[in-house]
Amino acid sequence: MKPRIFVTRPVPAEVESYLQEHCECDFWGQEEPVPRQMLLERTADVQGLLTAGGKIDAELFDHAKQLRVVSSLSVGYNHYDLPAMKQRGIIGTHTPYVLDESVADLVLALMLGTARRVVELDRYVREGRWQRGDNEVLYGFDVHHATVGIIGLGRIGEAIARRARFGFAMNVLYHNRSRKPQAEEELGAAYRTLDELLAESDYVVLMTPLTPETKQLIGRRELALMKPSAIFINVSRGQNVDEAALLEALQTGAIRAAGLDVFDREPIGAEHPLLQLPNVIALPHIGSATAKTRFDMAMLAAQNLVAGLEGRTPPNVVQELQ
Ligand code: NAP
Repeated sequence: MKPRIFVTRPVPAEVESYLQEHCECDFWGQEEPVPRQMLLERTADVQGLLTAGGKIDAELFDHAKQLRVVSSLSVGYNHYDLPAMKQRGIIGTHTPYVLDESVADLVLALMLGTARRVVELDRYVREGRWQRGDNEVLYGFDVHHATVGIIGLGRIGEAIARRARFGFAMNVLYHNRSRKPQAEEELGAAYRTLDELLAESDYVVLMTPLTPETKQLIGRRELALMKPSAIFINVSRGQNVDEAALLEALQTGAIRAAGLDVFDREPIGAEHPLLQLPNVIALPHIGSATAKTRFDMAMLAAQNLVAGLEGRTPPNVVQELQ
C-alpha cells in the first residue's frame, strides 16, 4: 500500500505526478498557507508531509500519530522543532544547493539596487521629477571594488562571494562560527570577527540560518558598529535582525540604506515605517523565486519525502537530525 501524504504547497504538475506515483496524496492546493486547525485535521492519518513553513512541532506530532517524514520545500528549517522531531524519530528534510545561485543573484540585485538607488530613481522618473541638468541629486555609490562582509559564508554565502569577488572585483570579508580555509583560498575571502566585519564593510550581507544563536544577531550595538556609509542586506530571516533598531539606524543616518527580502512579520504591512523610507528596498521573500529554481526545489522536496517513506535515507536530512 502506498504511504499517505499531505502537501500544503502548490507544486508543479510534474512534481504532483511524481508524488502520485509513489503516494496517496492529499493536496491543499491553495496559495494561502493552510490554517493550523486544517493542518492538524488533514495530517491525522498521514505518514508524510510536504510543507514550507508553519510550525512543525510537538502539537502537530500529537495529532499526526503516524507521521514519519516531513519534507520542507525550503533550505531554511527554522519552522522545525528539532528536539521534538529527534525525540520522536521523525525525519526532517530540506532543499539545499538547488537555490544557491538564484538567492545569490537576488543579493547582488539588492546590493546594486540600494547602492545605485534603482527603485527610488525609477519612481523619480515615473513621477515626472526628472529634469535636464539633474546631476549630483542622482548620484549613488559603487559596488565594484568596495568591501562586502558576508555574515554566514555557507552554500549561498559562497555563491555571493564568488559574484562579488570575480564579477565586481570586491574585497570579500566573512564571519562564521568556524573558518573556511577552502573559501579563503578559492574566493580570497578574509575571516573577520563579527565586530571587525561590521566596522570594515561597505556592504554587510546577512546570510545565516535563523537559530536561537542568530536571533536578533544584528541589533542596536551591531548597527552602531557599521559605517554611516554602510548598506545592509538581509536575505536570511527577518528575526535575525532587531527591526526597530534597523529602522532607527536608517532614519537617523547611522547607516546609509537597506535591501530587505525578509521581515519580522511576513507579509509586512504596507503602512510599516520601514516602507516609508526612500533608502529601503523591500521585497516579498523572493530569494529563490525563479520558475526553474522553484521547480527544482519542489522536485527535490518530493524526492526527499518519497525516499524517507520508502525506507531509504533521504539525501537531504537536516544536519541536526542526521
Ligand atoms: P548554510 O550553507 O548552512 O550556511 C549558513 C552559514 O551560516 C554557515 O556558513 C554557518 O557557518 C553560518 N552560521 C550559522 N550560525 C552562525 C552564527 N551563530 N554566527 C555566524 N555564522 C553562523 O545555509 P544556506 O543554504 O547558505 O542558507 C542560509 C539561510 O538563508 C537559510 O537557513 C535560510 O534561512 C536563508 N534563505 C533565505 C532565502 C530567501 O528566500 N530569502 C532563500 C534561501 C535561504 P558556521 O556553522 O561555521 O557558523
